[in-house]
Amino acid sequence: PTLVNRIAAGEVVERPASAVKELVENSLDAGASRVDVTLGDGGRARIVVVDDGVGMAPEALPLAVRRHCTSKLAADSDLTTIHTLGFRGEALPSIGSVARLTLTSRPPDADSAWRLTVAAGLVGAVEPAAHPPGTRVEVGDLFFATPARLKFLKAARTEQTHTVDAVKRLAMAHPEVAFTVADGDRVLLRAPALSPDLLADPAAARRERLGAVLGRAFAENGVPLDLAREGARLAGFAGLPTFHRGTSSEQYLFVNGRPVRDRLLHGAVRGAYQDFLARDRHPVVALYLEIDPAAVDVNVHPAKTEVRFRDAALVRGLIVSGIRHALADAGH
Ligand code: ADP
Ligand code: MG
Repeated sequence: PTLVNRIAAGEVVERPASAVKELVENSLDAGASRVDVTLGDGGRARIVVVDDGVGMAPEALPLAVRRHCTSKLAADSDLTTIHTLGFRGEALPSIGSVARLTLTSRPPDADSAWRLTVAAGLVGAVEPAAHPPGTRVEVGDLFFATPARLKFLKAARTEQTHTVDAVKRLAMAHPEVAFTVADGDRVLLRAPALSPDLLADPAAARRERLGAVLGRAFAENGVPLDLAREGARLAGFAGLPTFHRGTSSEQYLFVNGRPVRDRLLHGAVRGAYQDFLARDRHPVVALYLEIDPAAVDVNVHPAKTEVRFRDAALVRGLIVSGIRHALADAGH
């Protein structure tokens, strides 16, 4: 199983950022209201993710690191109604096969915590531990067990940038959760909890969170949009044409609360701005698409960042019209 897990790890865990993405997704699936990420050396030496979610009972710990064991799909369900970020049961076994992985967890109603360590695929015993309710996942020496992969890690600074970006995307998709990222004692991202008043107004909550994550400039240069059509809804902010970038790295796209990088979606954004921006300029957008889970396939690749739509024309039309209407309202 270690070999199979290592092969899967090649697809699921490419670098510290992908490990952090998987761990934070697990915290969100566990209903956490806060998630704190600490890195050592950009994530190359150490990654720690702490949440206050539902935790795991001691007997669940060995299952969590077993391949294709997921608590998230009912036996009779299919993949057409996925409401969680994870569903493949691959992330923890993959990480455990290529690194040192320690899970420490305590369900809210338990009076103590339990811990399990996996190193290079060798699963240790479940032991009592001290920890508040929630889960702490520590990943040490990522890829120490796969030297070929280790060689491809970039400088700490580069890995750190990718890692912060991955958490930023999840933080933008989940304004109801507080996030921090630190490397050593340097805080790199702080997305605080929002007041109940703000949370009651999803558009206001998003704007506030986008401001915290992307900076005030984005909040000031973004035009709100909200368009519904045939059961799908597109909301978010479209950057004014005067507010652009030299690369498309600041286009944030979310489908049902999941950050995605999708050609169709990026192509639609380009199409919407083609009359306003030169080809080498890229608009800044944060777009949230809510669509029937049965109309979108997220099981295209193990990293779950690619999607396939049953009705691509509908989605493209929503993006192009949504952005054009928003820009027209703003005088463009
Ligand atoms: P998946 O998320 O696809 O189910 P993972 O390998 O990421 O697979 O996680 C395996 C299982 O471990 C999850 O289904 C969940 O039951 C449990 N788990 C992982 N992380 C957490 C967490 N932070 N809090 C509670 N349970 C967790
Ligand atoms: Mg997962």
